[in-house]
Amino acid sequence: MCVACDWAPHFQAFGGHAVNRRAVLRSGAAMTATAMTATAMTATGMTATALALDRVPTGARAGQGSGRAAAAEPADVVFHNGPVYTVAGPAPWAEAVAVRGNTIVHVGDAAGAMALAGPATQVVDLEGRLLMPGFVEGHTHPFLGAFLTSGVDLQLDDLAQVLAAIEAQARAHPTGPIRGFGWRVDMFPPEGPNRAELDAILPDRPAFFFAIDGHSLWANSRALAMAGVDRDTPDPIPRFSYYARDQKGDPTGYVLEVNAVLELVNAVEPISVAAMGSLLEGWLPKAAAAGITTVFDAGVPPVGSDQAAIIALYAEAEKRGTLPFRVSASYSVKSLPIDDTVEQFNAVRRQVSSEFVHVDIVKIVGDGSQGGYTAWLIEPYADLPDSTGGSPFTEAQWHDLVGAVDAAGFDVHVHACGERTARVALDAIEKAVANNPARDRRHAIAHLVYVEDSDAPRFARLGVTAQFSANWSSADPDTLQNMMARYGAHRASRMYRTRTILRQGGRVSFGTDWPAAGYVSTYEPLKSIQVGVTRQLVGRPDAPVLSPAEERLTVAEAIHANTMGAAYQLRMDDRIGSVEVGKRADLIVLDRNILAIDPHEIHRTAVVLTMMDGVVRHRA
Ligand SMILES: [Zn+2]
Repeated sequence: MCVACDWAPHFQAFGGHAVNRRAVLRSGAAMTATAMTATAMTATGMTATALALDRVPTGARAGQGSGRAAAAEPADVVFHNGPVYTVAGPAPWAEAVAVRGNTIVHVGDAAGAMALAGPATQVVDLEGRLLMPGFVEGHTHPFLGAFLTSGVDLQLDDLAQVLAAIEAQARAHPTGPIRGFGWRVDMFPPEGPNRAELDAILPDRPAFFFAIDGHSLWANSRALAMAGVDRDTPDPIPRFSYYARDQKGDPTGYVLEVNAVLELVNAVEPISVAAMGSLLEGWLPKAAAAGITTVFDAGVPPVGSDQAAIIALYAEAEKRGTLPFRVSASYSVKSLPIDDTVEQFNAVRRQVSSEFVHVDIVKIVGDGSQGGYTAWLIEPYADLPDSTGGSPFTEAQWHDLVGAVDAAGFDVHVHACGERTARVALDAIEKAVANNPARDRRHAIAHLVYVEDSDAPRFARLGVTAQFSANWSSADPDTLQNMMARYGAHRASRMYRTRTILRQGGRVSFGTDWPAAGYVSTYEPLKSIQVGVTRQLVGRPDAPVLSPAEERLTVAEAIHANTMGAAYQLRMDDRIGSVEVGKRADLIVLDRNILAIDPHEIHRTAVVLTMMDGVVRHRA
């Protein structure tokens, strides 16, 4: 899992020094297209402001920040007549909320809220629908997600459905390449998918589709031809990243691992900063529709060695008025050298800083994944007994790296799929706490597929947030087969122990790690919350429950992890994460009360309104 961590280095060749001429020409075209989109959107009034509730827009901000007198001024929006789940205090329910400018000015009874209603106030009748804080995603990858998943979603049950979906996509988009994501390897025989299946429906347009795990691609003959791939083409990395071939030596259209995959994609739809910007722009409305009002971006693809170039696209979207969420971005460290980490991080931090976009955190890619035998384990892999995987850093380097970031006053966010990585990261944080001056620390360790019993209580003791992608914690075929094979029964039956961390007094945050997936890829917090509560596949209430069943969270605990838990991790808990007076108006309205319904139905919930910083960013 965490395909993002695997992928990021491979983008270095694209969009930077090594682009070919055709790619340059096309990226120019893409840039024009992006600019036109922005212009067209402004011309048609399709900005965040225009999407706002009828009487909320920009003028409503005038009351903001006018000091003590502001208390008497009317609110811009009052929400009433629906349950308000505040995620705050021992009594987390309220009747009504009032917002002035970008700030929540009343949470409590309806009479108090209505007392703030003036002639220009928008009074929203919730009609019994639930108001709660917007979702804070504690670990996700919007750029890689948008890149991999744009196009048709092929997370379907069988090949017939997949081909029908591709045909429908082609009909709906009659020109240009067709792309998509999400087919599963187990839909095909061992030799993988074949271009012939695609050629039958797409004989003359290029088409390519990423597999659910992002490790392989299925392309048609036209796409192979555009990339110049034929029986004479050498494989990028023989036997690892290559074009599968038939008995005659002709490529079948099944392309394996990132190097070969990106070569082909770049030939059909060139990868560039501008192209990444357009793909992101396409996803932003979906994020708002999922109720996301803040993200932690856990790593972007660098352009050359520059990590700021892609992060800056968020700030550009903010300028255009199309960014519907706050961004806490990270500077990623995935290999040596590490001695200039703080300096490099500071350089990126200074390059991108706007009202909603900040680079706050040093992400340490501490190991790989169990699937690829690259997660760093304490005991060997059950199906590879002479290997415990590994980390890019020795234990001494871990201590140096975490110690230096902590001494500079910053927080780390560690990718730790394997339990050895989690242990060494906790050791390094423990040492930093002992050696460096006392301060408010917000370190986090992410993924935590399996954690040894003796390490679990250290999260609470050291104040480290345990960051989970709850959407992974279902008993899906990938978990039951692949994880069981890698880990053996003892460890595989003790994965993703979220409730243990809470019971021991630790902090938990949720974030989907989109687009990373074993079996289901999603960016939607509501789906992640449902899996965190049920430990079952979404949409299949009779599906098996992932062991240990007692690790299932309550809905309230899962919501907390996806709001305040993640806000705390990002040092934003003083401004967002709950519905409280004085906090920013990051609010969502759901069409049903997810705390009252059968948890198996949570994924059917629609987000009918998303407000970020007092401005409506989505309305259904
Ligand atoms: Zn990740």
